[in-house]
Amino acid sequence: MKVNREEIFRLLEEGKKVTREQILDILERAKRKEKITHLDIARLLYIEDQDLIQEMFEVAGKIKRDVYGNRVVLFAPLYVSDFCVNNCVYCGYKKENQFHRRKLTMDEVRKEVMILEEMGHKRLALEAGEDPVNCDIEYILECIDTIYDTYNKNGKIRRINVNIAATTVENYRRLKEKGIGTYILFQETFDEEVYRRVHPNCIKGNYEYHTTAFDRAMEAGIEDVGAGVLFGLADPRFEVLALMMQNEHLEKRFGVGFHTISVPRLRPAERVNLETFPHLLDDEMFKKIVTIIRIAVPYTGMILSTRESAEMRELLLKYGISQVSAGSCTGVGGYEEHIKGKQVSQFKLADERSPRQVIEDLMKAGYIPSYCTSCYRTGRVGEKFMEIAKTEKIHNMCKPNALTTLLEYAVDYGDEELLQKVETFVREQASEIENTHIRNFVLKNIDKLKAGERDLYL
Ligand code: SF4
Ligand code: SF4
Repeated sequence: MKVNREEIFRLLEEGKKVTREQILDILERAKRKEKITHLDIARLLYIEDQDLIQEMFEVAGKIKRDVYGNRVVLFAPLYVSDFCVNNCVYCGYKKENQFHRRKLTMDEVRKEVMILEEMGHKRLALEAGEDPVNCDIEYILECIDTIYDTYNKNGKIRRINVNIAATTVENYRRLKEKGIGTYILFQETFDEEVYRRVHPNCIKGNYEYHTTAFDRAMEAGIEDVGAGVLFGLADPRFEVLALMMQNEHLEKRFGVGFHTISVPRLRPAERVNLETFPHLLDDEMFKKIVTIIRIAVPYTGMILSTRESAEMRELLLKYGISQVSAGSCTGVGGYEEHIKGKQVSQFKLADERSPRQVIEDLMKAGYIPSYCTSCYRTGRVGEKFMEIAKTEKIHNMCKPNALTTLLEYAVDYGDEELLQKVETFVREQASEIENTHIRNFVLKNIDKLKAGERDLYL
């Protein structure tokens, strides 16, 4: 996709002149989940009035509840290689940083996966630096096979989302054949000038190749793609508009836009000086951005990582976020190292709670932590998924599946105390399901799971 800089700057200039009446009109249409325009988005990005901001949060919160109910999907990243030929100025893995680099052997991949399965995870994001020699596509494909083949008690990874560097149609085709879930690629920044500046002397500095990666992935048949911007590199308003334009470009060309959008904010990392970035996002603007994206694309999942604090994660779950990582380690071999008390990471985390703590906190706040991966396994992907999501019938699957996978986690990996807590919670939540068939599906699953059946879903 060609990013239309002039058009974005024009929209931002126009957006600055926004009036109260215009905002109220946009929010009214958003409440009805009507598609809002680029100019509407630009206007929302300039809201300053506290009452209007609050009103916008309420609208985003309503959309979030209507579309996603109270379930929150959990996942974890798995870093398999920190070899990298790039020089991204914001990343601890950049090639000029001297440290002992490595990639996991298949035995080590198995060990990491078993630790993640012990935490209950069924959905991973496979992460690797870019290095065509030390970490080629063959290695990534072998990792995928190993992950899908690794069992721990009853646990198995059911969906591997892959976050690797932009590549060729042929390589995307091979990833697709391995049965990956979402192909994730962070644009980092859509501002071409900034993009070139923060990726000096490296392959990743090819802006055009990077911004057309999703086109190649979808040409290769990958149906779910997930985008992200590293907020803090360039003007966040510019990024939001460019993100929405790229989404529309994919919708027009392939019938479906982003499956997910991630919203990482720049974090401290080895030899990364945050003071050199003039666009760091404060909490207030960050909250606005999340709510505006939720309003603009109600049916696109939004992902928040452990870069954010537990408090920020809890708050944004109300206004837009639908997936969070839990118990993450952002270093190669990080899960095993963590057990041994050592930490190696790509960037610093702000939420270091264990998955169990995350789960207990979510339940306390009224959310259903979910390990569900059923859409991908029943072929509800790409355009088909969006069609169902837009009818809001996905609810009828998400909630019972979330409750079932939560109980499965507690039966397999919880102690007696956690199992009791989860079972009580699942029964309470099930009692609120109006549809008898769906309610009974959940209640029967409690007995089936305790009797040893696994992997039950709608
Ligand atoms: Fe390498 Fe990715 Fe870090 Fe850039 S962001 S230095 S490509 S690991
Ligand atoms: Fe996600 Fe589909 Fe499961 Fe809902 S039913 S949580 S959309 S995989």
